Amino acid sequence: MSELRKDPILGDWVILAPGRASRPFDTGNNRSGESSEVCPFCKGNENETPAAVMTISDDDADDWAVRVIPNRYSAVTSFDTAGSDAGTSEQTAGSIPAPGYHEVFVESPTHHQAMRELSESQVSLILQAWRDRLREVSVDPAVAHTMIFRNEGAAAGASLEHVHSQLLATSFVPARIGAELDAGRTHYELTGQLAWTAMLERELFDRRRIITESEHFVLLCPFASRFPGEMCLLPHVSSPGFETTSDEDLKLLTAVLRKAIVKLDRVFQGAAFNLGLHTAPPRDPGRPYYHWHMTITPRLTGIAGFEVGSGAWINIVSPEDAANRYRTSSS
Ligand SMILES: [Zn+2]
Repeated sequence: MSELRKDPILGDWVILAPGRASRPFDTGNNRSGESSEVCPFCKGNENETPAAVMTISDDDADDWAVRVIPNRYSAVTSFDTAGSDAGTSEQTAGSIPAPGYHEVFVESPTHHQAMRELSESQVSLILQAWRDRLREVSVDPAVAHTMIFRNEGAAAGASLEHVHSQLLATSFVPARIGAELDAGRTHYELTGQLAWTAMLERELFDRRRIITESEHFVLLCPFASRFPGEMCLLPHVSSPGFETTSDEDLKLLTAVLRKAIVKLDRVFQGAAFNLGLHTAPPRDPGRPYYHWHMTITPRLTGIAGFEVGSGAWINIVSPEDAANRYRTSSS
């Protein structure tokens, strides 16, 4: 059973999940595409995983295209087991169960190892699965926060090669997201404008950090990028929750996301990366002032002593330089 601990000074939550130590690893020592053991995510091996909670099918095939399954090595415990009021306690000593949902999106029936190998229609189905599962999980009143994330490559924390992403829904709002919510609300109260809208206006006027934009979406390198080549993908028009994205916008988003992934691969030669989808917590009072966005972070450098110790970042590549390299790369 996972456990929640709150830092007694800062109030940040930590999920203690010793059960995840036993998960299998197949990345890092085998890039040939042939797994030494049976890949549990490949089509035909569905019995190797828990039963799906959702499947998305492809119109052109009569089988699943994306499968959503509970994570066998979950970082959290189901709300039924943990109790619905767990994780809300101010208790700093003793054991609080860590309730939530931890699910895996198997992003293809085929053993692809990189998102850039997937077709546009397949990426569109993945985004649809993210949206639909976020919608379903957010209805649960015990869920305080949801995040979709993707780790590609061992340096980004992936433990299995087969393309996949994850959903982690928790009973608490993580500190960084809480800070974004507070900042969004304060900005609105002071200026009458949404913080992300104001940032986009400045960036679209300046243009040095814009990588590409389409009718509804903008891809840029954040002004205060923490990592070399960090990207942010967001809609032009403010929308707090990703789960309200229309089918039409998912298609438009797919095109920009694929461009981002291909450019990252061209500029940083197959680098591992993390993708995080920041979406407004379903019931947070700061929700109306939020603007969903994706961060895409190449993992070229390790996190070193200063970062671990301070939570502040040293970045050796300027976002203006990174954006210029992305703009001039083919995609
Ligand atoms: Zn596989």
